[in-house]
Amino acid sequence: MLNQTNSRNKQIKKGYIMVWQPQHPNAVTYAGEKGWVREHRLVMEKHLGRYLNQVFEVVHHINGDRTDNRIENLKLMSPEEHTALESGGRKWKTK
Ligand SMILES: [Zn+2]
Repeated sequence: MLNQTNSRNKQIKKGYIMVWQPQHPNAVTYAGEKGWVREHRLVMEKHLGRYLNQVFEVVHHINGDRTDNRIENLKLMSPEEHTALESGGRKWKTK
C-alpha cells in the first residue's frame, strides 16, 4: 500500500494525495514539475463529469481526512462557504 501511494504517479504532498496528470488543464507545479492534480478534485470532477473551476469551486473533506478521497467524503463548496466552515462556522456542522 505504501509503495503504491509513493509511486511516481501518486504522491502525498502537503497532506494531499497528488496524482500525476500532465494533460490535465488545471495541473499545478510541485517540486519544479508541472503536471500534478489533487486527487480529491479529480474524484469530484469524475463524479460531476466536468472540470472544476479553480477559483470558485472548493472540494472539502467532510471527515477532515485529506487522504480520504471517497466521493462520500467530498463536498463541493464555494470558497466563502469553505472559509466559514474551516474557521469554525458551526452552522455548517452536518451532525
Ligand atoms: Zn475543507
